[in-house]
Amino acid sequence: MTELTYEKKSAWTGKEEAIHSYSEGYKNYLNASKTERECCTETIEMAKKAGFVSLVEKVDKNEAVKAGDKLYYTYHEKAVVLIVVGEEDLKKGLNITAAHIDSPRLDLKAVPLYEDGGVALLKTHYYGGVKKYQWTALPLAMHGVIYTTQGEKISVSVGEDENDPVFFISDLLIHLAGEQLAKTAANVVTGEQLNVICGHIPLEEDEKKSVKANVLKILSEKYGIEEKSFLSAEIEIVPAGKARDVGFDRGLIASYGHDDRVCAYPAVTALLEMDVPKRTCVCILADKEEIGSAGTTGLTSRYFENAIAELVGLTGEYSELKLRRCLANSYVLSMDVCCGYDPSFGDAFEKNNTAIIGYGAGIVKFTGSRGKSGANDAHSEYMHKITSLFEEKGVAYQTGELGRIDLGGGGTVAFILAEYGAYTVDYGVGVLAMHAPFELISKADLYSCYEGAKAFYGICE
Ligand code: MN
Ligand code: MN
Repeated sequence: MTELTYEKKSAWTGKEEAIHSYSEGYKNYLNASKTERECCTETIEMAKKAGFVSLVEKVDKNEAVKAGDKLYYTYHEKAVVLIVVGEEDLKKGLNITAAHIDSPRLDLKAVPLYEDGGVALLKTHYYGGVKKYQWTALPLAMHGVIYTTQGEKISVSVGEDENDPVFFISDLLIHLAGEQLAKTAANVVTGEQLNVICGHIPLEEDEKKSVKANVLKILSEKYGIEEKSFLSAEIEIVPAGKARDVGFDRGLIASYGHDDRVCAYPAVTALLEMDVPKRTCVCILADKEEIGSAGTTGLTSRYFENAIAELVGLTGEYSELKLRRCLANSYVLSMDVCCGYDPSFGDAFEKNNTAIIGYGAGIVKFTGSRGKSGANDAHSEYMHKITSLFEEKGVAYQTGELGRIDLGGGGTVAFILAEYGAYTVDYGVGVLAMHAPFELISKADLYSCYEGAKAFYGICE
């Protein structure tokens, strides 16, 4: 092939040691952040260690900010905005990365606990796009917050420590699955069958020998909660266990929640290393992406804009015009996972235009469905700016798209930030088995994503 031909290059070349070392930090992040709340807490701890201070405290004290200042802002313990103030006037725009920290899971219903067939069970409602049958017959953990009878908010995490019990959703035995297996896969297991087994021993002193009563007794003794406490609780059921290396060569990582921590972690770690950037750099970690970015912590809420408005106010006299100029002149890297080519399901993809794992995180010009419906569709000028930047900085990258045309599709938060008029493009690590309880990524793509985010924050004009 001549030099005129475009060929993807492996992201592993010359970087193997750095890739493995960076991946260890990522696995720790995954293990500490099974939910959006935990991810928020973990990220803020990392930011504080790197010298970030609370934006809200700055506002309360009306302290002016200057180049090099590092600020964090959290919203309802589920969304994060990190800011490193640059040398240039804010009206010149920001370099913004945006990833999300919510992942598909099963949420407990408000009145979840009941007893049937010798076991106590919890009713769930799935969150985000899941193949429901994938959530049966595997060890599950429980994470979230609940208020005690005394009104104290407590955090719950059961099933991650090796000495903890886990939870379980049953599937029908194969011997009796004739009718079940004749159904379409979407209906093989229904939403109302995703019931979490959480207890089995009857309460001895109870006349009816109730298993449910025994579970409530244990919950009362251990956490100080009662059945009514579930009414206001937010408890998420996720796969139990830690992220694991995959393959004899340890080149891949299997874990719950790569979508989208595999982009959030690079976006955060690259920002934490920034010194005094030319342009102000911002990292957004949003919630609720998996259900359409709605709600107060989803990116369609105003918390990000409000944080930047406060920032404008702390760098001089606030005006809406200054804020609008700042946002419109920004560059946005909408960092969310893309689909990696899966060799076992090759016909779901068009191989030339799909990210091949191990060849760098993918720049995705457009997402969407059918005729690109719902896509941001990045401009050629901006695509050229980002690809040239990555070439110059030696960042391994490729382009990606969301699978074979007419097969399906999906979106990210790109269109929301694009509403400000800012240049916006999708960028992220290719994932295999996306939205499954355990997803698979390449360590080389993870590392390239970190290098890509770092190069992006360094954009000067
Ligand atoms: Mn995602
Ligand atoms: Mn997703």
